[in-house]
Amino acid sequence: MEKKAIDTLLFGGMVVAMNPTFDVISDGAVAITGSDIVDIGRTADLQARYTPSETVDCTDQVILPGLVNAHTHIPMTLLRGLNDDLRLDVWLGYLMAVERQFVTADFVRLGAKLACAEMIQSGITSFADMYYFEDEIAQETAAIGMRALLGQTAIGFPTPDAANHEEALQLIRKFVANWQGHELIQPGLCPHAWYTSSPEQLAECAALAKELDVPLHTHVAETQFEVDNCHAQHGTTVTEWIDKQGLLETKLLAAHCVHINRHEMDMLAAAKAGIAHNPSSNLKLSSGIAPVAEMLEAGCQVGIGTDGTASNNDLDMFEEMRLAALVAKVKRNDPVDLPAKEALTLATIGGAKAIHLGHLTGSLEIGKRADLLVLNMDGVHNWPHFHSNPEAIYSRIVYAAKSTDVAHTMCHGRWLMRDRQLLTVDLPQAQTDAVDVARQIDQFVQWRESSPENKLAALIGRETPDTFEAQIRAKLTAGQASTIPTTISSLAAVPQPNIEHTDTYLILESDGDTAHQLRFRTETRSNDTGTAETQHILTLLNQLDQIAAGLTLGQAHYHGTADRPLRFYREYFTPDREISRTKSRQQWHLSYNDVDLVVNVDTVPAAESGESASYILEIKARALSAAEAKATVAVLQDLQQHLLG
Ligand SMILES: [Zn+2]
Repeated sequence: MEKKAIDTLLFGGMVVAMNPTFDVISDGAVAITGSDIVDIGRTADLQARYTPSETVDCTDQVILPGLVNAHTHIPMTLLRGLNDDLRLDVWLGYLMAVERQFVTADFVRLGAKLACAEMIQSGITSFADMYYFEDEIAQETAAIGMRALLGQTAIGFPTPDAANHEEALQLIRKFVANWQGHELIQPGLCPHAWYTSSPEQLAECAALAKELDVPLHTHVAETQFEVDNCHAQHGTTVTEWIDKQGLLETKLLAAHCVHINRHEMDMLAAAKAGIAHNPSSNLKLSSGIAPVAEMLEAGCQVGIGTDGTASNNDLDMFEEMRLAALVAKVKRNDPVDLPAKEALTLATIGGAKAIHLGHLTGSLEIGKRADLLVLNMDGVHNWPHFHSNPEAIYSRIVYAAKSTDVAHTMCHGRWLMRDRQLLTVDLPQAQTDAVDVARQIDQFVQWRESSPENKLAALIGRETPDTFEAQIRAKLTAGQASTIPTTISSLAAVPQPNIEHTDTYLILESDGDTAHQLRFRTETRSNDTGTAETQHILTLLNQLDQIAAGLTLGQAHYHGTADRPLRFYREYFTPDREISRTKSRQQWHLSYNDVDLVVNVDTVPAAESGESASYILEIKARALSAAEAKATVAVLQDLQQHLLG
């Protein structure tokens, strides 16, 4: 029989195929021509059949399918270690401000280079990404030679690459048109999460994914907080809610799914959705442990992801795979859950199917693309080897091997790393450039942390105009408190509905001498129809001047709706101390000597003030400058005298 010419023959290694029959071939070989695997078998058999241009001796090594990182945000390599040990929403609060400031086409190109280098070194050949400027990420990924499902992001607010949702959809169309049919890049789209898009926007994303026939990648049920909010806002689980917007009719990749119930698992399995399990990120952000063993019992298609390096903080799939196996055992207190073989399945063919690339990659099979890694097995941390159990190889790979044991990585028939030397990324240049970006981010963080105003501006994404206020505050006797309504009505004051306030003052001393106070107010107003309306208001205040006893000049840097819970602000601002007050307020608006004033009479309940209820008079004038506020002081004092007789 005449020998057939091929490009590459890997021989003499243990082939762990991760194919449907889980073939393990000792002294095995893999034959590659062009981008494809053309044969797999025993070394002697393949050597007899082929004349390779290149041979790679894999003696004492394992030949594995390239690992699949099922969920990540690769440019975040440039934000690695910037914010750690925080809850998800607080972490996002910090992170999104930096992203708004720094994420550009150049930023993502650089971040993508670093990430691809790191992933290739850890034996990853395919990944699913969600970020901005995905076209630039695609260009870098394709040039470096990795396979990827890349999703251009759509969010319901301005992002670094789109001013609004409409622009984001246009970018997605352009991105998909540019890359549809590419041999390495599968374009897709990413509504970030159900809670960062309106229901209409989610439905538009789902419709677009179906129209373009591309995968849709989104975050699902990452935290209990998110799940509780979904129940409170929509009365459904997260999976039911995204199903309502049509997401389960798409080729869905659902990242996290930490807090889903059996019914949701059944829905996701029926929809043939992929699930990306990210154990490091879920542990680090204290989001929880995804019920992976139960998902697999429900027939879900599960893969493993690293998530971004801002929450992991690396792209090491060996670490991730091992952790996935370990946390699954704690989840149900059962060491049998997610054994090594199953964990490796999730990191290879399971992940490939989850990211909708299972027909191309994830296992060593004839006709599939040559995406593989060669793993050293002779490290002392992976020694000795037992041969009585043929499945022990899975245990060695999952529980003992390290990403630094990866010797060679190949994707699409092209070597990306040989003997740990990266062949397609200029890593030293990328590292030099990253140092420069890190320096700029450091400067921004120093600015942000230098005052509570900056910190709040970074959070809400804009500077806010300051307002100024002169205020008189005086204790009243019960008698005075009862006569003020009559006195003030003779001045044509307009009475306002009764208000109940619960205020929490977070005292922030970080700004030198000036103590800033961040007030989180829960305000309930009873209106004419007898119903009550509650809202949360955030105000950042500081006292500029004490003009006289009980007479102050203050400055408000921000006054507006608090769109996050008190806990968030507490964790974001880390106040020195905290004061809480509850009061009932009668309020009047009036014009007095041509100055617009607000008069409050507050009743502080006995429980708050000690022995009996106490009463406080406040007279305030708001202005656009400190000088203008100061000019109203005489009028305030005059009104105070008038009211107290
Ligand atoms: Zn993520």
